[in-house]
Amino acid sequence: MKIILLGAPGAGKGTVAKRLTALDGSVQISTGDILRGAVQAGTELGKEAKGFMDRGDLVPDSLIMGIMEGRLQEADCKNGFLLDGFPRTIPQAEALKALLTKLSIKLDMVVDIQVPRDVILDRLCTRRTCENPKCQAIYNVKSMPTKVEGICDKCGSKTIQRADETEAAISHRLDTYNEKTAPLVGFYSNEGIMKTVTGTSSDAVVEAIKSELGK
Ligand code: AMP
Repeated sequence: MKIILLGAPGAGKGTVAKRLTALDGSVQISTGDILRGAVQAGTELGKEAKGFMDRGDLVPDSLIMGIMEGRLQEADCKNGFLLDGFPRTIPQAEALKALLTKLSIKLDMVVDIQVPRDVILDRLCTRRTCENPKCQAIYNVKSMPTKVEGICDKCGSKTIQRADETEAAISHRLDTYNEKTAPLVGFYSNEGIMKTVTGTSSDAVVEAIKSELGK
């Protein structure tokens, strides 16, 4: 499948993407994960992106398109992809449209996952992420704690609260989402491939997407 997942930070895009990859071998492409990996590895990209990310601001479109142009042409995208956290602005959506046309790739669907703001705030403040850039597993101290406190079940690295998951940064990210990313719903509605799914449980969202795709 070739899908874009829209939805505010904390809407569950990453969890939903991971479940959907199991269906047909499509890969999850999270620009947030790629950028966090670059920050941890101390690459030029990471150095440029870090300040924006820590403040909860978007990284410039040119940096993101530089990542995605290469990523979408990697061999593992042949079976399909789930874009998680990209595109985030109208210029990114326009650049993606041109790139997909150039690569002769047609999107199946764009899904907007809608979750109430209070649920999102609670989720993000209690979220913990594995600090290992190759793992980045996500936990929640309330609903999905690690077996040993502060230690990732999957790889044994430390789990941390992200710098952009303090209450002030989260609030700023949600405002940024409403201003810059929410307009993409109109953009993809005009393209005729937009679906909205409302739900606070990832299971319900995954089932709704599967039924839309006829899987
Ligand atoms: P995420 O994990 O998707 O919430 O992304 C974390 C941070 O990475 C965001 O707050 C932005 O600073 C940056 N980021 C991720 N994806 C993008 C994107 N498509 N455009 C601009 N900035 C992005």
